[in-house]
Amino acid sequence: MKSLHSYIGGRFVPGKRGFADINPADGSVAATVTEASAEMVDEAVAAARKALHGEWGKLGARGRATVLYKIAEGIEKRFDCFVQAEVADTGKPLSLASRLDVPRAAANFRVFADVIKIAGLEAFETELPDGRRALNYTVRKPIGVVGIVTPWNLPLLLLTWKVAPALACGNAVVVKPSEETPATATLLAEVMQEAGVPDGVYNVVHGFGPNSAGEFLVSHPGVNAVTFTGESQTGASIMRACAPTVKPVSFELGGKNAAVIFADCDFDATIAGMSDAVFLNTGQVCLCAERVYVERRIFDRFVAALTERAKSYDLGWPMEPATSMGPLISKVHREKVLSYFDLAREEGATVVIGGGVPTFGDGRDSGFYVQPTIFTGLKESARCVKEEIFGPVCHVAPFDSEEEAVALANDTRYGLAASIWTSDLQRAHRVAPQMNAGITWVNCWFLRDLRTPFGGVGLSGIGREGGMHSLNFYSELNNICIRT
Ligand code: NAD
Repeated sequence: MKSLHSYIGGRFVPGKRGFADINPADGSVAATVTEASAEMVDEAVAAARKALHGEWGKLGARGRATVLYKIAEGIEKRFDCFVQAEVADTGKPLSLASRLDVPRAAANFRVFADVIKIAGLEAFETELPDGRRALNYTVRKPIGVVGIVTPWNLPLLLLTWKVAPALACGNAVVVKPSEETPATATLLAEVMQEAGVPDGVYNVVHGFGPNSAGEFLVSHPGVNAVTFTGESQTGASIMRACAPTVKPVSFELGGKNAAVIFADCDFDATIAGMSDAVFLNTGQVCLCAERVYVERRIFDRFVAALTERAKSYDLGWPMEPATSMGPLISKVHREKVLSYFDLAREEGATVVIGGGVPTFGDGRDSGFYVQPTIFTGLKESARCVKEEIFGPVCHVAPFDSEEEAVALANDTRYGLAASIWTSDLQRAHRVAPQMNAGITWVNCWFLRDLRTPFGGVGLSGIGREGGMHSLNFYSELNNICIRT
């Protein structure tokens, strides 16, 4: 059985307590993981601090970009190992990990290597009352030791989304991957070694959140900034932990995303897009649409077509090439999702399809699969319409006017992503900016350009990452003013 250990100062360091890394496809133990103690988190932070004062701290942006390209190549060289590790930890289909998670991890390093190489700096010439001038210019410096805490749904993709820009800016990082998905962060440590990343620049501490490695990291006085992706409530706890030392935070949190489908949409393309938007990664993408609003004229046709799509998913073993939907991440998470399925019924939903657990007659019955599920008929005030479920499920409701659709979509305390489906260009331009969200897609979903701002409003987060926005979070600007 494989043992996964923390990675501190360039060495794999076992912790005293172990816990199991479960394969969600059949509930088997994929690996054992050793938990980092408070002392180990101290050591990781100290190793990161030391690295900032060593050769890493002296490397310029071009030198760091070269290292980032090597990391990208290292991920690609071990492509199959990363895919297998991600599939074993998450249960996501092989096809998805190969198409999305692992290629995006390499792309994250390449894009931020490119971004740091071309990033300019601000300069202003200031005219003074006495006729003299001052030149103001900014220099970009690393923020220091960055604590990175990540979730289980897109483990490597989301981890590298933060590690890459943090390293591009010259920081050292201590990452705390989700306890559910520790493997790829650990494998990345080997890639870092091979790419010549100096010891202490990339550290991994394994463990849980409260009273474990996660809390020890985010409350550590030696950590200069915290970037976190995960649940909104966890974000609130982390914010409290960061308050005493006034650490800057970047939060990518939960969502209850809306999709608005107008009758003039390209129907087949919309159904294909919405099928991904609801069911990709078993609905465990923060950007997934759990609230779908459809113009009444095409409501029945839409529900019927999305139902056909839901039926077409192959809930196979994750490593089978034909599998198109894997299990949920854990027993606990499945209980949560199923409790929402029960709640939806209590709240008066019509179950169009799904709503339960599939049976297979093999090892998958010990895994954490659920059926792709569509509800209709709920009131807008229902908890199932208001709260994030994070499973392969949506509620579909009709609307009659554009104004009503906008109001329904915006009636949420979250605000991560929205999608609009229409072939009326003017309508798209009119409606998209009205969405109370950080990202609005028109006639597409999860189409990403890594230079663009990514983040949410309300309960969905604080700040934006992506392109220059990431550089601004992961660096401190020093404005230098010289009177000439
Ligand atoms: P989670 O908040 O339970 O855990 C995320 C990470 O935080 C884990 O590593 C966990 O160990 C750690 N953690 C938990 N409590 C902590 C604490 N008190 N202090 C420090 N660390 C702590 O989230 P999850 O269940 O792993 O992920 C699912 C959630 O993530 C969903 O809400 C989803 O919408 C959200 N998400 C958001 C985005 C985005 O970009 N906005 C992307 C992916 C997932």
